[in-house]
Amino acid sequence: MKIKNFLEIDKDITLIALSYLLNKSKNYLLLNDQIDLNDEITNKLNAIIKKVKNGYPLQYALGRWNFYGLDFITDERALIPRPETELLVEKIIKADIKKEKILDIGTGTGAIAISLAFNLKESLVSGIDISESAIELANENKEKFSLDNVDFFVSDLFSNVFDKYNVLVSNPPYINKKDYQNLDKALFYEPKNALYGGDDGLFFYKKIIGQAKNYLKEDGCLFLEIGYDQRNAIEKLLEENSYANINSYKDYNGFDRIVFAQVKEDIC
Ligand code: GLN
Repeated sequence: MKIKNFLEIDKDITLIALSYLLNKSKNYLLLNDQIDLNDEITNKLNAIIKKVKNGYPLQYALGRWNFYGLDFITDERALIPRPETELLVEKIIKADIKKEKILDIGTGTGAIAISLAFNLKESLVSGIDISESAIELANENKEKFSLDNVDFFVSDLFSNVFDKYNVLVSNPPYINKKDYQNLDKALFYEPKNALYGGDDGLFFYKKIIGQAKNYLKEDGCLFLEIGYDQRNAIEKLLEENSYANINSYKDYNGFDRIVFAQVKEDIC
């Protein structure tokens, strides 16, 4: 079949899927829509379109997704990496702080830990997750990029962590009970334990913020991704736990998305 025929079936899915399958830009595909696709690509694209039209996430159907310029293996073992989370990575990369040792809590695909390790070659990054299959996937992604400054291990929050870090980062499950019940159907294919943050969505923040100082160096910093309506509650938790220099940042849609805090003022 020609690209044109697929564009007529579903333009959006076709453009994204073919940009991955053929490694071409969307513009190229639109300008060259008379190209005949071989049987292999035709069959793959047909299968992807069918799955996505049935509500299956495109990122899982493709099995790959780009995050911070890197192509990650993406499947049902872990949450799909989101563009908002790229901001969390960017903030850490650009921050004027010590970054020798970084811990990513609830690493999932490993997208945060790997993109930090890829861009901060002097840092040692560890990623932990309660899910063994997520750690398996994160290791497959590590292999893809041949990195030797990142490692992954299973840990229920800090249960297997015995070190101290300059930076703790986490995008924990943060969706509350009410929002989880109203979620888009496509999100039900993602692991519930990567999305659901208890009745108030704050379960993991309470745990992480309550324990983080035991795993942070004296000059350590904490970077958290948060839900759109959680900023006040999380800043309050940080204040109650005597963190310094608490700051929040909005995402590209104008929602509060990232919270930063230091163990002690100004020595980061
Ligand atoms: N950003 C995701 C969503 O709203 C949630 C990710 C998370 O719970 N950490 O779909």
